[in-house]
Amino acid sequence: MKVLVINCGSSSLKYQLIDSETEQALAVGLCERIGIDGRLKHTPAGGEKVVLEDPLPNHEVAIQNVLAALTNPKYGVIKDLSEIGAVGHRVVHGGEKFTTSVIIDENVIKGIEECSDLAPLHNPANLIGINACRKLMPGVPEVAVFDTAFHQTMPKEAYLYGIPYEYYEKYKVRRYGFHGTSHSYVSKRAIDIAKLDPNNSKVIVCHLGNGASISAVKDGKSVDTSMGLTPLEGLIMGTRSGDIDPAIMEYIAGKEKLDIAGIMNVLNKKSGVFGMSGVSSDFRDLDAAATEGNELAKNAIDGFVYRVAKYVGAYAAAMNGVDAIAFTAGVGENDKKVRKAICEHFGFLGVKIDDEKNAIRGEEVIISTPDSKVKVMVIPTNEELAICRETVALCK
Ligand code: AMP
Repeated sequence: MKVLVINCGSSSLKYQLIDSETEQALAVGLCERIGIDGRLKHTPAGGEKVVLEDPLPNHEVAIQNVLAALTNPKYGVIKDLSEIGAVGHRVVHGGEKFTTSVIIDENVIKGIEECSDLAPLHNPANLIGINACRKLMPGVPEVAVFDTAFHQTMPKEAYLYGIPYEYYEKYKVRRYGFHGTSHSYVSKRAIDIAKLDPNNSKVIVCHLGNGASISAVKDGKSVDTSMGLTPLEGLIMGTRSGDIDPAIMEYIAGKEKLDIAGIMNVLNKKSGVFGMSGVSSDFRDLDAAATEGNELAKNAIDGFVYRVAKYVGAYAAAMNGVDAIAFTAGVGENDKKVRKAICEHFGFLGVKIDDEKNAIRGEEVIISTPDSKVKVMVIPTNEELAICRETVALCK
């Protein structure tokens, strides 16, 4: 079956057409600047990237243009839209309603709408993508794969905040976690690669990208993760603060004359390693600056590394042990210095890193030595393939 995987943001839309039998992407692409002007970048497998500058006034037109690109006689990869067997959508917030992926119907759409309060920037964009596909490809089954679903197995002690319980009852204020599709995919690969018993395994997944989160996966189930009600909690990220003393908000608001929206903007977009360094949110730039002696860039990298190490230590305690630690996403997959620096904190767990293995890039690799007590590995994440698999499983 050919599955169209769609990841719809507020002004962008990423897509892949995947052949579920070979699990290879037939085409990948990105619509940018939707509602502003519009650009579609489309790359057929083994072919040249095509950039189309047609206007994209809304998501429906964007999807229309994606379908036109996929069926284009020159750079398309299918003859006819009837070849698309199903569509898989990434949906950011499933609240407590959605604990697994689901086939989309009217009730599911209503459920996603009801969760929009919890992800006001993301869920409405995801719904626009879903509705546009329903309109343009009537009769083709669509599946929603939620970023939060994998973490719905967290126990109460991990998901309740230390605030009045009535806020959970009235407003569902609790920890949900995100990047679930990646944590699920990578933890399963880690169990396979480390040859662990899926029902008796303790894995820590470090998804370190521009957005970053860590999860504790016991017996294949998420028992804790670092993001919370929103993706702002936890690690120091590219531009997000992660954990801070909540009282900082009032203090800075007073000093800088900012309202709540202004403070949230600072914590989401101007903080993290970007805000700490004043250089960049990209670890390549930070490394270059730190190497040239920029103290603030060094502080940012060190702060990032230290926070990751603290969470890994906490999750080893949460699970009473750890069999495997897996690194994934942009920084986790590519930055050997950051991986090494993080792992240097885990001598107490018996972790030993093989520097040659740690230098390998672009593939699944165990980077710990054979006598390391914990297997440490790099596993490139593949959220699109995970969404494709979920979609096929539900549409069979
Ligand atoms: P993601 O959000 O998973 O796409 O990750 C994006 C981030 O990965 C970038 O902002 C960089 O900080 C980081 N990254 C990507 N490539 C490299 C690299 N070769 N070395 C270090 N960091 C990288």
